[in-house]
Amino acid sequence: VKRNFEIVLILLVLLIGFVQIDAEEGRQIAITVDDLPFVTMGGGTKDVEPIKQWTTKLLAKFKKYRAPAIGFVNAGKLFLDSKEVAQNTALLSMWLDAGFELGNHSFGHKDFHRVPWQEFRDDVVSGERVIMGLLKQRGQTLRFFRHPLLHTGNNMEKKNTLAAFLADRGYRVAPVTVDNSEWIYARAYHYAIEAGNKKQMKQIVDSYIPYMEQKLQYFENQSKLLLGYEIKQILLLHANELNADHFDKLAEMMEKRGYEFISIYDALKDKAYTSKDSYIGNAGISWIHRWALSQGEKGSFFKGEPEAPEFIKKLAGINYE
Ligand SMILES: [Zn+2]
Repeated sequence: VKRNFEIVLILLVLLIGFVQIDAEEGRQIAITVDDLPFVTMGGGTKDVEPIKQWTTKLLAKFKKYRAPAIGFVNAGKLFLDSKEVAQNTALLSMWLDAGFELGNHSFGHKDFHRVPWQEFRDDVVSGERVIMGLLKQRGQTLRFFRHPLLHTGNNMEKKNTLAAFLADRGYRVAPVTVDNSEWIYARAYHYAIEAGNKKQMKQIVDSYIPYMEQKLQYFENQSKLLLGYEIKQILLLHANELNADHFDKLAEMMEKRGYEFISIYDALKDKAYTSKDSYIGNAGISWIHRWALSQGEKGSFFKGEPEAPEFIKKLAGINYE
């Protein structure tokens, strides 16, 4: 009898340990959403109604899970034949009226690593006017900048020039810790919607949620490896159909892992965000990895990062990641 008791006790201890590893208390994460008003909206749009419906859906899900998300705007998408379209700008008001913050993601989503400095600088500045106008009406100010493609500069001079310029204009940079290829899933999902292929839509979602959980798990571990604790994470998502339809599943998975949703402003109170960042690589990567590289971490530190499965890439028509 005593022996059975001991076995039960050992199993219990193991079980508690296991549950704790998977759902640690006090985890926090900020949701950031890029390419507003909507990913599938190119230069303006003639029929804004479907995008309005997608936006309504997406914002309702953020509200339901009390996720104080921030949206990063490409103001160029509001313009049709170089004229600002009021119905497009109204999509942004929906975010603000629902209590969400907006930041600048540049006017035309230019790649800082590919265009001359003046061109990129102008793209940042032209991105401001519409957002600032909307914020001003509500007594708010423009606080955050998110780099397109997370490209912060591929040489030290460029990186420092942009950082100083953004600080000078009153921006805080919006880093990403949980980087991922949600955008590949979203593209595959968009094609499945267009094809009216419900079975494929479901297949994509059934892979999306576990994939995102693996990414979270990976960056939780990377944070512990580098910092000794789990940082207040910042997740990168996009304004797309996939999240409008399924953010609830994503939120429930995160809640199960013990996450509480916080604003990017609160996430940045984590002292880790002041870590040295001398990364000048070409790729837009997680800030956890930028700090790791700045500290001289090598190959083995980064191993095991989950990738989107081949069938998803294929459906999205993408052969890289
Ligand atoms: Zn973007």
